[in-house]
Amino acid sequence: ARQFTRPLNDLANQFNTLLSAIAGAERVFETLDEEPEEDEIGAREVEKLQGHVEFINVSFSYGEEETLTDVSFRAHPGETVAFVGPTGAGKTTITGLLSRFYEPAAGDIRIDGQSIKNITRESLRRQMGFVLQDTVLLAGSIRENIRYGRLDATEEEVVTAAHMAGAHAFISKLPNGYDTVIGPDGSGISQGQRQLLAIARVMLAAPAILVLDEATSSIDTLTEQHVQQALARLMKGRTCFIIAHRLNTIRTADHIVVLQEGRVVEQGSHEELVESGGLYERLHQYYH
Ligand code: ADP
Repeated sequence: ARQFTRPLNDLANQFNTLLSAIAGAERVFETLDEEPEEDEIGAREVEKLQGHVEFINVSFSYGEEETLTDVSFRAHPGETVAFVGPTGAGKTTITGLLSRFYEPAAGDIRIDGQSIKNITRESLRRQMGFVLQDTVLLAGSIRENIRYGRLDATEEEVVTAAHMAGAHAFISKLPNGYDTVIGPDGSGISQGQRQLLAIARVMLAAPAILVLDEATSSIDTLTEQHVQQALARLMKGRTCFIIAHRLNTIRTADHIVVLQEGRVVEQGSHEELVESGGLYERLHQYYH
């Protein structure tokens, strides 16, 4: 109810600038280190996923309060699904469940028709790529940072991935090129360049499923264009889940899932949601 009583401009503001969800993304990764995660007996490795994803009446809570309630949606292979809604609505949590950092309390998540409980976490995550707000870089060379996407990649594959991500141009202008050592905080390169490296890394991994946390407000317009173009190439042919903040991204998504307080309040295409006159339509109108 808290979210409903907020003035609409406040809501719209959060909807737009949002992704202070950096914290959310970090939490997702922290869990990886904290939890000993054993796979279920009989869990199988998957080699190559098609990327058909289905949430069926999924509920989840971190503690006492329910964070997600009865969440259902579906993505066909290659489709882009945008999650929208106020901060705290549960968008990041959904991506954490999808990558099995958390387990549903009720309901099921299926990929290519099988419950993800039956897939080993490692092989599942190998089929998933993350481009988050705050790129996780390693202390090491640019080459190592890209190769982190697939450790057995050849030099040629690393360079091809950098090309496809639109990162090769800036890398080759650096005095030490691919050998340039960057700090864990990405020191020495710009934020946009860090994002291009993150995209190159995921390009190299070539996952069937992508999770994007969109927030590029602090990047200048030209870099922003580069990043958007690289993202578009990365998204091609993969099932994409975007924690979306840009109206253009949302508008062009195949499917929009509108969340509020852990529930799907509406879902559909941009046109359908505008037509139905619900929360999405109100938020959307606000921008015109
Ligand atoms: P969104 O991505 O839509 O901003 P989140 O999925 O990050 O929303 O958060 C949904 C709710 O779950 C919020 O109330 C948030 O405070 C809570 N939450 C998120 N992560 C955790 C966590 N690791 N432990 C406890 N509560 C959490």
